[in-house]
Amino acid sequence: MSLLIKGASVLGAEPTDVYVDGGVIREIGTVSATADEVVAASGLVLLPGLVDLHTHLRQPGREDAETVASGAAAAAAGGYTAVLAMANTSPVTDTAEAAVSVWELGREAGLADVFPVGAVTKGLAGEELAELALMNRSRAGVTVFSDDGRCVSDPRVMRRALEYVKAFGGVISQHSQDPSLAPYGSACCHEGELSGRLGLPGWPGVAEEVIVARDVMLARHTGSRVHVAHASTAGTVEVLRWAKAQAEKDGSWAVTAEVTPHHLLLTTDLLAGYDPTFKVNPPLRPAEDVEALRAALADGTIDAVATDHAPHARQDKEHAFVDAAFGMLGLEEALSVVSTVMVSSGLLDWAGVARVMSTTPARIAGLEGHGRPVAVGEPANLALVDPAATYVVDRDRSLSLSRNNPWHDRKLTGRVVSTYLRGKQTYAG
Ligand SMILES: [Zn+2]
Repeated sequence: MSLLIKGASVLGAEPTDVYVDGGVIREIGTVSATADEVVAASGLVLLPGLVDLHTHLRQPGREDAETVASGAAAAAAGGYTAVLAMANTSPVTDTAEAAVSVWELGREAGLADVFPVGAVTKGLAGEELAELALMNRSRAGVTVFSDDGRCVSDPRVMRRALEYVKAFGGVISQHSQDPSLAPYGSACCHEGELSGRLGLPGWPGVAEEVIVARDVMLARHTGSRVHVAHASTAGTVEVLRWAKAQAEKDGSWAVTAEVTPHHLLLTTDLLAGYDPTFKVNPPLRPAEDVEALRAALADGTIDAVATDHAPHARQDKEHAFVDAAFGMLGLEEALSVVSTVMVSSGLLDWAGVARVMSTTPARIAGLEGHGRPVAVGEPANLALVDPAATYVVDRDRSLSLSRNNPWHDRKLTGRVVSTYLRGKQTYAG
């Protein structure tokens, strides 16, 4: 099966043709060969397939909210060819067997490569380390570990985890939330004037920042790698900026960070109507934080965009605000949000989008077949984007099984029109 993409702008550069055969890019330039399928891509931008470091697929345990297959379909619709599936399923992905099971479900679906994230601690309880090395040595090849949804809050446990994964080049992705400053489950609104007025339990930015500060010191001490999941405050950006400057001097420890599309665009005042769609952890922050996160993504202080795609069944989300589940959908509109926020404003060009949504996330997770340059000899994991397309998001058109979509009714610019996994089309818009 051969594929010829005609006149696409690779990473926003001059239009060219890309010829794919056997799942591999064979030729780039003016291609005269004929192909089984020819795609007219004039005016479209061609990116390497996107890589999501932070996806919740809910299988096993909550297949009514999402399955590996439905989540992979939503990922393909968003231009993703690889997603990392978080460990807080039921049961938790804390054994090699559980990790392999998720990985196999992804292979069966065939719509995106699904890489399980392993839990850091057994049952996400924060006490005993999970089977980190066994998960790494399994067929699933787990490299990223996270208790996401919970913070590895005991510094001794975090230190051990960092020491442990160092041996095989793994990374701990930390959900930074000091539970004594922002209690799990109850803290649900950025602590400030609005949380007081609405009578909602506050989630102060400092509850994130103290954990990020502690963890970068532990990463330095152990010479290991920590990844900050869903950075949400200007204070976190300051800590990251300091940490990266130190790491550059030392050359022996590493800190990376991600930001979600929703923290790049939505602000805490959306909570004024008590709509549980906007309840997320960490919470939406004020405009100053959003500005700082955008600037940090543009200058490389924040390395990657990750969706924190968190599908929820209707019966878990449609409650009074304080009782509703945390989280929002993210896979299908992530590229559009980044395009709208970062490209339209000139903060990133398309090469920059490829960097923060594909190349760097793949490097952080140690994925070899993803986040590669669009070049001859590379696997044909590709996303075609119409940079000029403007559309209004309709939550009912989602491929996710859930509908908790914060972008519903919002106008976005830039849209994925096709996705290819090793040359095979996995989404056609
Ligand atoms: Zn989290």
